[in-house]
Amino acid sequence: MSKTVSIIGSGFSSLSAACYLAKSGYEVRVFEKNKTVGGRARQIIKEGFTFDIGPSWYWMPDIFDKFFADFGKKTADFYQLDKLSPAYKIFFSDDTITIGDSMDKICVEFERIEPGSSKHLREFIADAQENYSIAIDKVVLRPGISPFELVTKETILKVDQFFKTISGQVRKKFKNPKLVSTLEFPVLFLGAKPSKTPSFYSFMNFADFGLGTWHPKGGMYEVIKAMQSLAIELGVTINTNHPVEKISVENGKSVGLISNGTAFDSDYVLSGADYHHSETLLDTKHRQYSESYWAKKIFAPSSLLFYIGFDKKLKNIEHHNLFFDTDFEKHAEEIYDDPKWPTDPLFYANFPSVTDTSMAPEGCETGFFLVPIATALEDTPQLREHYFDLIMARFQERTGQQIKNNIIFKESFCVNDFIEEYNSYKGNAYGMANTLLQTAFLRPNLQSKKVKNLFFTGQLTVPGPGVPPSLISGKLVSELIVKAEK
Ligand SMILES: Cc1cc2nc3c(=O)[nH]c(=O)nc-3n(C[C@H](O)[C@H](O)[C@H](O)COP(=O)(O)OP(=O)(O)OC[C@H]3O[C@@H](n4cnc5c(N)ncnc54)[C@H](O)[C@@H]3O)c2cc1C
Repeated sequence: MSKTVSIIGSGFSSLSAACYLAKSGYEVRVFEKNKTVGGRARQIIKEGFTFDIGPSWYWMPDIFDKFFADFGKKTADFYQLDKLSPAYKIFFSDDTITIGDSMDKICVEFERIEPGSSKHLREFIADAQENYSIAIDKVVLRPGISPFELVTKETILKVDQFFKTISGQVRKKFKNPKLVSTLEFPVLFLGAKPSKTPSFYSFMNFADFGLGTWHPKGGMYEVIKAMQSLAIELGVTINTNHPVEKISVENGKSVGLISNGTAFDSDYVLSGADYHHSETLLDTKHRQYSESYWAKKIFAPSSLLFYIGFDKKLKNIEHHNLFFDTDFEKHAEEIYDDPKWPTDPLFYANFPSVTDTSMAPEGCETGFFLVPIATALEDTPQLREHYFDLIMARFQERTGQQIKNNIIFKESFCVNDFIEEYNSYKGNAYGMANTLLQTAFLRPNLQSKKVKNLFFTGQLTVPGPGVPPSLISGKLVSELIVKAEK
C-alpha cells in the first residue's frame, strides 16, 4: 500500500510538491479552498479579456525547464513560450528607459543615459551571473536546515556580498538615479527594500538582463494548467472548494485533516497555504511560531490591483511597464518603515495583449495595474477609487493619451481580498521577504519541529517569494518527506 499525503492549497508550491510526491509513489490528495487551482496565480476571464490575477513576469526560464524535465517533459509540451522584445519599459518623469532583449541593446540604452556606464554594467552582470550559478546550483536547492548549507567554497569567496547591500553596490558603480532605480528593480521581487537586500542577490539582475523576460502564450495561468494536468497524469486527486479547517494530530503526529467537516486520514500532511495560517489549523501547543515571531518578520508588500478591459488599443506602452516617475525612497518608507497608504506611489502596468492577441478581443487591450502597498492597511472602496484616479491620471500624462473613457469594466483586488481569498498573513501579496536574517535556515522550517509527519511549503518558507522559488520549495519539501520515510 502506498503512503498517503494530504496537501493543503494548490498554488505553485503545492502543485510542485504534489507532482514530485506522486512520482515518488505516494498517493496524493490536494485540498484547495477556492473553486479553481493556482492560488495567487489564478486567472480572470471576462468578456473575452484574460487576466493573470497575480504573477505576470516569467523570469528564470531554466527553473521551469528543470521542473518539467524532472518528469520527462518540456515546457513546449504544455505551452508556447516567447521571449519579450523589449522586455519592459520604465517611465520616469522626464524620460523613458526601454530594456531590450539582449545585453548589447541594454548597454546602448545605458550609454545614452550615462556615458561610460555600459562597461560597469557588463562587469556588474558578469558578477551577477556568477552569483546566479552559485545560488541556483549550490544554495537554493538546500532545505534550509543548517547554516552550513550556505558554506561552500564559492560562497566563502563571496561572503562580503552577504553583508553589503544591493543598493550600496549599485550606487558605487552608477551615478544616474534612473539607472540606479532600473538596477534596484529586480530585487523588489524578493520583498524587501534594496537597502536591506544583500548584494549577493544581484543574481536577480542576471535573471533580468541575462536570461530575459518571457511570456507563456495565454498568460501565466498556462503554467498552472500545465502543472495541474501533469499532477492528474501522475495520479494526484485535486479537490477544489475544500477549505481545510483543521490539521489532525494524534500522539504528536499528524494523521490527516478536516475539510468541509469531513475527516481525511493520511500518513503525512503538507501545507502550501500561508505558513502563519497553516499553523492556526493546529492546536496552540503544536505551533512552532508565536504571534510575536510573525509580527517581527519583514513581509513582502501587499498590493492594490486593478484588472481593466479597454475598448481600444493603447499607445506608447509595452507588455510590461514600470512607472518610476515619483520618489521611490518615500514610497518604500511608506511600505516598510512607516506603513501607510502611499502619498505618490510607483506602480506597474501590464498589457499582455500588446504581444499576445489571445488575451483581449480584437482592437481591445487587457490592462493590469499594481500599486505595492504596506500590509495590514485599512482597505475601503473609497481608498481604492482614490488610488485608481491617481494612477489613471499619471498613466494618461506619461503616455500621452486618454483612457478613462475607454474602460469596458474594471475589477479590483487588495488587502481584504488577499486575506479572504488566501488566508494571507496581514494581506501580504507575496510572502516573507528575503533579507539577510530571513534567508535559508533563518526562514520558517519546511518540516515541523513539533509535529511528526507535518510539512510546509511555499513563499513563506524556503527558498522564498516568487514563482521559481515556489517550484523549488515543492521539490525540497517532497525530498524531505521521502527522507522522513527512510
Ligand atoms: C499580485 C502579485 C504579483 C506577483 N508577481 C509575480 C511575478 O510577476 N513573478 C513571480 O515569479 N512571482 C510573482 N508573484 C509571487 C508569486 O505569485 C507567488 O510567490 C507564488 O504564486 C506563491 O505560491 P504559493 O504556492 O507559495 O502560495 P499560493 O499561491 O498563495 O497558494 C496557497 C494556496 O493555499 C490555499 N489555501 C489557503 N488556506 C487554505 C485552507 N485553509 N484550506 C485549503 N486551501 C487553502 C489558497 O487558496 C491558495 O490556493 C506575485 C504575487 C502576487 C500576489
